[in-house]
Amino acid sequence: MAKNSSGDGPHFVIVGGGIGGLAVALSLSNAGFRSTVLERADEFTEIGAGIQLGPNSVRALIHLGAWEACKKTVVFPDRLLMRDALTKEEITQVPLGEKFTERFGLPYAVVHRADLLNSLLGECQKSDLITLKTGQSVTVVEQGADSATVRTEDGGTYAGDGVIGCDGLWSTVRPLIVDDGKPLVSGHIAYRAVLPPEEVPEHLRQQSVILWGGPHCHLVHYPLRRGEVWNLVAVFHSDRYEEGWDAFGEKDELDKRFAGTCDDVQTMLGKIDEWKLWVLCDREPVKEWSKGRITLLGDAAHPMLQYLAQGAGMSMEDAVCLAGCLKETGGEVVPAFAKYPTMRYLRTGRVQTMARIYGEFYHAAGVKSELRKMVLSNRSAEATYNGMAWLYDPIPEVPAID
Ligand SMILES: Cc1cc2nc3c(=O)[nH]c(=O)nc-3n(C[C@H](O)[C@H](O)[C@H](O)COP(=O)(O)OP(=O)(O)OC[C@H]3O[C@@H](n4cnc5c(N)ncnc54)[C@H](O)[C@@H]3O)c2cc1C
Repeated sequence: MAKNSSGDGPHFVIVGGGIGGLAVALSLSNAGFRSTVLERADEFTEIGAGIQLGPNSVRALIHLGAWEACKKTVVFPDRLLMRDALTKEEITQVPLGEKFTERFGLPYAVVHRADLLNSLLGECQKSDLITLKTGQSVTVVEQGADSATVRTEDGGTYAGDGVIGCDGLWSTVRPLIVDDGKPLVSGHIAYRAVLPPEEVPEHLRQQSVILWGGPHCHLVHYPLRRGEVWNLVAVFHSDRYEEGWDAFGEKDELDKRFAGTCDDVQTMLGKIDEWKLWVLCDREPVKEWSKGRITLLGDAAHPMLQYLAQGAGMSMEDAVCLAGCLKETGGEVVPAFAKYPTMRYLRTGRVQTMARIYGEFYHAAGVKSELRKMVLSNRSAEATYNGMAWLYDPIPEVPAID
């Protein structure tokens, strides 16, 4: 293994302690490498909303060693049900139970973001090779021939053999590597909220992911934490632009965008007084996101719209892949960082591209919504599974579990 000046193996500075940052700290540790995670917020935390985990995400979590902890908190939905938000008509349903698990070897799960983050955090805290630091906002990243250094807002300096930018959509590290300006504003906004189960009408209180697709909008809801809470995400087209994850949504705008939707959708939306909003952004896929001793991971490398529910999954796959590349080079940072995006960019680029297309489908209006029904309503479960195999089946960088 490559040695650094202190005589130990390489040490990595990880910028950002979200799902991607903690996942890569864990995968590096599993491979015997040391890291320091620098998180800007005062604690490692995620907002109260859901994350869907396809079998590929579960596979990555198993490789990371965090699935056993995570599994205790998840819900395994029985199906994905898609209905027309105007007419209530069923468009399609995909069984996610036994048949699905048999096909992909692993289940489909939904998890509270905080529970996912805490499973990763808990495993990180058990490792002597990981140092976790909060309240550290990185402002400058530099590299020399033998090392890379970051500086923080409060004057701190952290040096390592490599820096991994896991600092999300509005990454500070990315401009050092990719010259593509600000993220692309999609014109789609997500409002999110959680509901206690007793507030969910009984006929909708199912262990299913239910998606109501409407013209230029959709609503999705599903249970979290063994059904202790219901996750709601309402998405619609809007010009509003707000950076970050902490702005409040305006109820009037939501009512306007979902006007004309069926009573079930109106009932669910009517239950919530306060919504948090996300302005949904992505970027065009790029193929190079490493330069020397600096690389990117997760949303900093390949931000995507959420319509395939894969951003967190992709960041965890990146983490497994990057540690694998480092293992292969015996800890030599530059060749490992150079190889890692070459193993990832076509897959993450495909998800970025397909997510946009799925968004079009969810929000179809007029003839497009008729087309949606025509294409989806007669598909067998097998045909749907085969269509998802590129995403859910094992891949070389995150192979099947023995
Ligand atoms: C509405 C919505 C629904 C989604 N649903 C799903 C889903 O079902 N399944 C799925 O897999 N994905 C989903 N995603 C995507 C997923 O949330 C993201 O892809 C994932 O959180 C990316 O993780 P990350 O660690 O790369 O970035 P982030 O989660 O953005 O984490 C970045 C971290 O870096 C920190 N940071 C930022 N700048 C600095 C700095 N300068 N110094 C130090 N720290 C810094 C931040 O505080 C943050 O903790 C969804 C996204 C949205 C918007």
